[in-house]
Amino acid sequence: MEGPEVDALSFRLSALAGRQWVDRIDVPAHRWQANVLLKHCSGKRINQIYSQGRWLLWNFSHGVSWAIYPLKRWHWSAQWTDAGKPPAQGWMENISPLSTAVGRRPLLRITLENGGCLILSGRPLLVVLSTEKLYRHPSLAGLGPKLSDEFLTDEIWEKRLRLLTGDKTISQAIMDESVVAGISNQTKCEMLFAGAIHPAARMGSIESRQMREILSAARRRGELLYRASLEGHSARELPRLVYDRAGEPCRRCATSIVAERCGRDGLWSWFCPHCQKLPQQPMLFGVEPVAAAMPEPEPFSGTALK
Ligand SMILES: [Zn+2]
Repeated sequence: MEGPEVDALSFRLSALAGRQWVDRIDVPAHRWQANVLLKHCSGKRINQIYSQGRWLLWNFSHGVSWAIYPLKRWHWSAQWTDAGKPPAQGWMENISPLSTAVGRRPLLRITLENGGCLILSGRPLLVVLSTEKLYRHPSLAGLGPKLSDEFLTDEIWEKRLRLLTGDKTISQAIMDESVVAGISNQTKCEMLFAGAIHPAARMGSIESRQMREILSAARRRGELLYRASLEGHSARELPRLVYDRAGEPCRRCATSIVAERCGRDGLWSWFCPHCQKLPQQPMLFGVEPVAAAMPEPEPFSGTALK
């Protein structure tokens, strides 16, 4: 699940449930430790549903918020309590009620005053906290902007990347949620290919022009993904030039794509070893070799020793 997908999901959920009053909330027994807190949101209005990075955020009228994160796969579906009404556009068919265990196990069912019903299943992380303290939660406090945020200009993007301390690789910098939140490994691989950057390249070796190229590639992909998600499609259906194509020919030079864990971000990186060459990196343990910093020796002018 990537940022733009959660963004699209929040848009769809808002269309169905935004500004609606909650009639009731059903939670299967023993599923959520916080189920009392969840149930307290019935009888309240949903003020807003939006996203930040991969977090889906719900604000309720009584000053309580939900922060839901797709730790493992999650699934949202919508149905009308009136079975005769067709499913809302872009949503799955009506799913089984909470009591029958077919396929996915529902975790939460939210019944709305307009007769709509939203069901969450899968294995997300759900945190209930006061709206006032929402952005003090450690996972949310340090989140960077979204790719789609307008204030994220080329200059700000480059500045945020370069502000990272230490001698980071470009892969580590891209995957750092404090720079920009919600970029997936798949997007990372595709954007590095677009900028012809090796996943293990150090930040210091990357030119401003490449920084701009990878941001614009990430944005194009983010927009495609957002639009696809609105129609219920997933990231897997998007075109891939390198991601998950190990052994297949590069579309630019026909060299075989390789997969390595070289970006030091704890993830696999798929890339073309010909188009994305590792620049000369004389840095050793983050320190310039002493010789490079020494002045050129004076030409020897004394009497040669024998
Ligand atoms: Zn290539």
